[in-house]
Amino acid sequence: MSMVQTDYIVIGSGIAGLTTALSLGRTGHVMILTKAKQEESNSWRAQGGIAAAVGEDDSPILHQEDTLRTGVGLCNVESVNMLVQMGPNTIDKLSEWGTRFDRSDDGWSLGREGSHSVSRILHVTGDSTGAGITSSLLEKVHEQSNIQLHPHTVVQELIVRNGICHGVIMMDAERKQQVLTARKGVILATGGCGQVFRYTTNDLVTTGDGFALAHRAGAKLVDMEFIQFHPTALAVEQNPMFLISEAVRGEGAFLVNDLGEKFMKRYHDWEDLAPRDVVSRSIYTEMQQGRSIYLDATGIGDSFPERFPKIFRHCMKHGIDPRTDLIPVTPATHFIMGGIQTDLDGRTNIERLFACGEVACTGVHGANRLASNSLLEGAVFAQRVADSVSALPDLLMQEINFPEYVHDYTDPEQAKIWKNEIREIMWDHCGIVRNRERLETGLVHIRQLRDKIERGFFECRNMLITAQIILESALAREESRGGHYREDFPETKDKWAEKHHVI
Ligand SMILES: Cc1cc2nc3c(=O)[nH]c(=O)nc-3n(C[C@H](O)[C@H](O)[C@H](O)COP(=O)(O)OP(=O)(O)OC[C@H]3O[C@@H](n4cnc5c(N)ncnc54)[C@H](O)[C@@H]3O)c2cc1C
Repeated sequence: MSMVQTDYIVIGSGIAGLTTALSLGRTGHVMILTKAKQEESNSWRAQGGIAAAVGEDDSPILHQEDTLRTGVGLCNVESVNMLVQMGPNTIDKLSEWGTRFDRSDDGWSLGREGSHSVSRILHVTGDSTGAGITSSLLEKVHEQSNIQLHPHTVVQELIVRNGICHGVIMMDAERKQQVLTARKGVILATGGCGQVFRYTTNDLVTTGDGFALAHRAGAKLVDMEFIQFHPTALAVEQNPMFLISEAVRGEGAFLVNDLGEKFMKRYHDWEDLAPRDVVSRSIYTEMQQGRSIYLDATGIGDSFPERFPKIFRHCMKHGIDPRTDLIPVTPATHFIMGGIQTDLDGRTNIERLFACGEVACTGVHGANRLASNSLLEGAVFAQRVADSVSALPDLLMQEINFPEYVHDYTDPEQAKIWKNEIREIMWDHCGIVRNRERLETGLVHIRQLRDKIERGFFECRNMLITAQIILESALAREESRGGHYREDFPETKDKWAEKHHVI
């Protein structure tokens, strides 16, 4: 196996990975490894926007209050404070790096989303915020000679010796295995794990690799039971499912069932802009009674194509005209609040291993994420990671015997079958509404699959590890809170407040 050395290894080319690389400035050589095309990420798919307290009627304190309330008692107040305080400067930084946020005559054009008490969502070309931000960051990265981006390069293992992360084992675009070591540190920015569930809005790359790599290396994972199900994915069979952004409800669209009832009135005072877990569960309840669910956006009328061009084009492709037709919707797995436990500088419990973005758990989301806070989290904590990793002295490379890694072989057809099996198990046993019996049965199925799936099926095995951790965490929390709902323990219990399940 050949061996290459660099200063920083960044794994992932979403907002967290790219912001880390750019924030490292010219402090050393950076290698960004990303397993598919450079733009294949959840960041690219993000639609609605990025939250920051930049409006006249807003303040970081108000943003903090909304975030804490939505997180239902499990947020880390210090992290949230960091997020909201750094929000406005981060928007300036992204603008400086080339993002052109939409503006109106009197300043920023700010949208409204569920659980936000004021309009504070910045967006790009209406509903292409993720692509807008990520494409500018990628452009900037390619301008910088000390940063190299390697697409189609899969990180298969972290190399940890004596509690220190030295580098990674990776498979490059020619399917050659290499050892890559880092003088400063390794940064995991591998995103979430939506693909572990059957119905998801997440990109195909989100097979939970980062959680599994970290777990195998001995890093702590926390709060993994908290999954956010987005209420309004377009109900057309596809993977990933296309998202109808919450910003559409922010502009006045509302949910109806096939009896024409505006049913959210029955479930929450904030109706269609209630927290996502409430809206998803309400839809689930309606569906259990045999109802089909639609989004009525006809009130937005002729301004729909201009305000939501991407959503408009996608709906029209499926023969749905949002100006006149009801849009069929269904909840889908969207985001994981838990992740690799980090401090405010993205440090994990393994020396020189850092994490940021969706794969990390800084504690900003608690039990439920406030809409549009995750792009912000990725960008804010990536800057902090860059500051702390660049301050480290160079690691003196010891003579390390790297084991020959078993060559990765995946039969794509067989991998697809295994993946679908895992996704079905998780959706059926660990979905929007959970209970002990279903979780235990899910665990049995996942453990059986672990015995069956051979080592070469890298992504499948990562999905299994991630699935098992989510199931075990969900079983352990005998209450309901935010994105974790147990029908056998429907109450939110004081004794579980501030309790975090660490694996
Ligand atoms: C459809 C959709 C819409 C959304 N809309 C919004 C929104 O409007 N506002 C908001 O704040 N949030 C939104 N989110 C959530 C948000 O997009 C994500 O939480 C955020 O972009 C995550 O960024 P990230 O950089 O951590 O990970 P990602 O952007 O997912 O990037 C992960 C990267 O890691 C790479 N990777 C993974 N495993 C490996 C491996 N083994 N080896 C090498 N590379 C690897 C991937 O290829 C990818 O490049 C949305 C999510 C989705 C799916």
